[in-house]
Amino acid sequence: MTIYKAPLDDLRFALYDVLGAEQILTSLQGGEGHTRDLVDAVLEEAGRLSEALLAPFNASGDEEGCRYDKATQTVTTPKGFKEAFKAFAEGGWTGLTQAEHFGGQALPNAIGTATTEIFQAGNLSWSLYPLLSEGACHAMELHGTKEQQDTYLKPIVEGRWTGTMCLTEPQAGSDLGLLKTRAEPGENGTYKITGTKIFISAGEHDLAENIIHLVLARLPDAPAGSRGISMFIVPKFKVNADGSLGSRNTVAASNIEHKMGLRGSATCVMNFDAAEGYLIGQPHKGLAAMFTMMNAARLGVGVQGLALSERALQNSANYARERLQGRSLSGPKFPEKPADNLLVQPDVRRMLLTQRAIVEGSRALLLYTSLQTDVEAHGVDEATRKNASDLVAFLIPIAKGLVTELAQEATKEALQVYGGHGYIVESGVEQFVRDARIITLYEGTTGIQAADLLGRKILQLQGAGFKLFLQEIQAFCQEHAQNAAMASLIAPLAKTAKEWADLTLALAQRVQANPEELGAAAMDYLYYSGYATLAYLWARSVAAANAGNHAEAFKQAKRDTAAFYFARMLPRCRMHKAAIEAGVETLPALA
Ligand SMILES: Cc1cc2nc3c(=O)[nH]c(=O)nc-3n(C[C@H](O)[C@H](O)[C@H](O)COP(=O)(O)OP(=O)(O)OC[C@H]3O[C@@H](n4cnc5c(N)ncnc54)[C@H](O)[C@@H]3O)c2cc1C
Repeated sequence: MTIYKAPLDDLRFALYDVLGAEQILTSLQGGEGHTRDLVDAVLEEAGRLSEALLAPFNASGDEEGCRYDKATQTVTTPKGFKEAFKAFAEGGWTGLTQAEHFGGQALPNAIGTATTEIFQAGNLSWSLYPLLSEGACHAMELHGTKEQQDTYLKPIVEGRWTGTMCLTEPQAGSDLGLLKTRAEPGENGTYKITGTKIFISAGEHDLAENIIHLVLARLPDAPAGSRGISMFIVPKFKVNADGSLGSRNTVAASNIEHKMGLRGSATCVMNFDAAEGYLIGQPHKGLAAMFTMMNAARLGVGVQGLALSERALQNSANYARERLQGRSLSGPKFPEKPADNLLVQPDVRRMLLTQRAIVEGSRALLLYTSLQTDVEAHGVDEATRKNASDLVAFLIPIAKGLVTELAQEATKEALQVYGGHGYIVESGVEQFVRDARIITLYEGTTGIQAADLLGRKILQLQGAGFKLFLQEIQAFCQEHAQNAAMASLIAPLAKTAKEWADLTLALAQRVQANPEELGAAAMDYLYYSGYATLAYLWARSVAAANAGNHAEAFKQAKRDTAAFYFARMLPRCRMHKAAIEAGVETLPALA
């Protein structure tokens, strides 16, 4: 059985000390009430709920998995999932960041990110059900008519119903332009939706009375490719005029996928057999509509990486403290015991510090980006909102791509700390490795994030967000130029920022000459950008720790981890720079 304790001190440190969240949030339009007292109370309650109701069913949910009944085409979720969802909904958590007029609490996204980390760390499989609903709510809030919002959005916010996102088809994954599901006009402005969707998270389950599918499909007159896709609402049970459940719609799960991890989350094959659906948003603009909520979804998956890494770290640190094996190279540290604990081994400390650098760096990055989404939505003036929007656009592929990839490393190192015991199911740590594997794949693979960062955010949008972010780093370096306590971080940070700018410029020129260079460099560029971004946030963390009134051990831990990061992880930038500069000719055509 693995442990989990919500890391409230670290969350508060990242939010308030490093990122100045209270000042940012309370100065937003309508943000006066989002004070530290309120946020602290929310975080504490989220911690209690996750520790008591979600974490205990993480391993059993994995072992039990979801069960599909062919006769009834229904899915039963593992023990504890239903009760936890009920408590979650009753506590108002399903509407935490949703608008008040839809029954939500309208709390900032940054607080949603912090609580989501806590819930996902407790039980990632379970947390997919509310996460998908949140995505569906965003879509309806942005694109639904008032009637659609009243009918479908409110019950989801209340946690009585849940939502899904039905995009993927067997032949259409990253390239949704290939999708074939058809939408034929039916009676009274309805549509008949026909097709098969695969890999649909929360497509069928027993947690809620109704499931509202958001489905991408093609109208009869649709142009080919991604410009001919529309979005439809397809409820599992049709809804009567008074809001009560009507007849069963002709959409059903024909199976569930058998997966490497995330086994408590029902991933369904969904068959739509002339199912009644309702157009949401404009015809042929469905993909664009989906993209308007892509940022929130991608950020949410980045948080999954952080959550798993945090829980893996807590457990491996605990194990290393208790496991007695061998002696320190410089002589016994616990002579009264048969052996020293694992913490005396520098290589074990390397594994733990790698995890810690990833966890706390990722947390700062995800919270920073979330705060910018709050400024983008509620900033006091147009210019502030536009800047935040540019920053968000630039940071999302890094926050999703890098954090989910680093979660592979963090969970792998956590297992390695356990030695062979980590490979054994009872340790619980192998589940984190398996659960983590999906997060670099769904919601846009890392390859797609990398192409988005370099192709769209840097080249197409001329690096608007990148320029702002670089200016921020440069201003921070100047502010601390005379600060002796920060000297060992500021010099390499300033050097990296300059190199990042030069590398980007040189790369843009190469891509202009040969577009294939974009694909050849994108992944290494994503990593370079990610490590440079974390360096900035680690430097800010040390500045905040030095300035704050935390216990000395807490401050020293931040300084030690930052020093580790700068000495042993930031140099990875050089490797990625070399790979970028190696160019497309090192990736020859394959027979
Ligand atoms: C457990 C699980 C849950 C999921 N949940 C949902 C859900 O709820 N709703 C939903 O609609 N879908 C869902 N998906 C689907 C998921 O989003 C897709 O699997 C994902 O988008 C990748 O598509 P694909 O699997 O077809 O891979 P492909 O698109 O075939 O990609 C294969 C490889 O080629 C690379 N590649 C492809 N195109 C490019 C490119 N242009 N540039 C660079 N590299 C490229 C990819 O990076 C990848 O490495 C889920 C999948 C799983 C496994």
